[in-house]
Amino acid sequence: MKTQLELARDALTSEEIHVISNLEHIELEDIRTNVANGTVVIIGGSRHGSKPVGVGEGLTSKVNASIGTSTDIIDIDLEIKKAKAAEESGADTLMELSVGGDLDMIRREIIAATSIPVGTVPLYQAFREATVLYGDPNKLTEELLFDVIERQCADGVTFMAIHCGINLYTIERLNKQGYRFGGLVSKGGATMVGWMLANKRENPLYEKFGRVVEILKKYDTVLSLGNGLRAGAIADSLDRAQIQELIINCELAEVARNMGCQVMVEGPGHVPLDEIETSIILEKKMSGGAPYYMLGPLVTDVGAGYDHITAAIGIASSSRYGADLLCYITPSEHLALPNVEDVITGVKAAKIAAHAGDIVKLRGKIDKRDLDMSLARRDIDWEKQFSIALYGNDARKIRESRTPESEHSCTMCGKFCALENANRYFR
Ligand code: SF4
Repeated sequence: MKTQLELARDALTSEEIHVISNLEHIELEDIRTNVANGTVVIIGGSRHGSKPVGVGEGLTSKVNASIGTSTDIIDIDLEIKKAKAAEESGADTLMELSVGGDLDMIRREIIAATSIPVGTVPLYQAFREATVLYGDPNKLTEELLFDVIERQCADGVTFMAIHCGINLYTIERLNKQGYRFGGLVSKGGATMVGWMLANKRENPLYEKFGRVVEILKKYDTVLSLGNGLRAGAIADSLDRAQIQELIINCELAEVARNMGCQVMVEGPGHVPLDEIETSIILEKKMSGGAPYYMLGPLVTDVGAGYDHITAAIGIASSSRYGADLLCYITPSEHLALPNVEDVITGVKAAKIAAHAGDIVKLRGKIDKRDLDMSLARRDIDWEKQFSIALYGNDARKIRESRTPESEHSCTMCGKFCALENANRYFR
């Protein structure tokens, strides 16, 4: 079976391209061309039993919500509720990142419970199975690692973050620059670094990259080149180890694309506002325009308890400068496993931020919704406002909780409603 990339290169327009063209109001041929040159990837679709989601050049920024059990909290019903809440709140994709419980069963149930594309980080399960089988994650074998990747693809996983770009060069950079202010914060990345050091061996995901690509191609699972050395502190942003990994990931993106595999590259992490644009320019230039999947980014280290806001600021800026898929952050980031309420709050904050960035990134193409809202506000048409707002039901609840004296104003200014007063003179 051909991948979306191969079909597009054969000048074929898949049913998924038709769906995305309708949703995003973009010409079929423009999307097909961008899928063929690798600047757009299509995640999911009929062969995966999910909605197709277009990510990349010229398309609206998409938001990913990550869920999954931990070793401390293993509650499959809770994870299914979180998955459904994320989808209902507008998440475009979902990453199932469980590390506790029956991982195959949890993944399959989450995929069955949602219609948006589900992604994974297979290293989590591989290291977990090595720990169960051999009592030590560093005893993970190549065969088990590739078996887990294929097992997850066969289950219908639509995209996978795989840490191929951490190799002996990146570890050398890490050693030479000295330990970081924020340490290593990627679970998969830190465990793979530990495996390489313990076994004194190259990362098999880098050494046998062709094998990784062949497995993902077989299922048209989009390869997301993982950011294992992403900065976990503002002070570590754009350090040499991270840039080394980015360079390698961009080289690998070219290899994967040439082999016919859909591919995107992952980015950080913790990034100050003035380095977000740099990160995006570097990734786009070095990868030949592969879609950029940014995790957050978090623009300060001190927002604990409110990191959905910290990330929303970063997401708006990333989206504005050209990032394509943004991973949400919840209020419980750095503190605890998110609950359902955290997931809902995180998705909504990220969606609003991504839209704010898109107003600039796609100027002239998506502004009508904001304009219609402005007119509805000016005309004090509450029902219209609720129907246009990204989260109209939430807006309605707030208004209805504080009923004004006059239907034509709200309790903020009451009798001094600026709009009502001005509308008398300017209609
Ligand atoms: S009362 Fe004030 S806040 Fe409310 S609609 Fe009028 S101008 Fe806007």
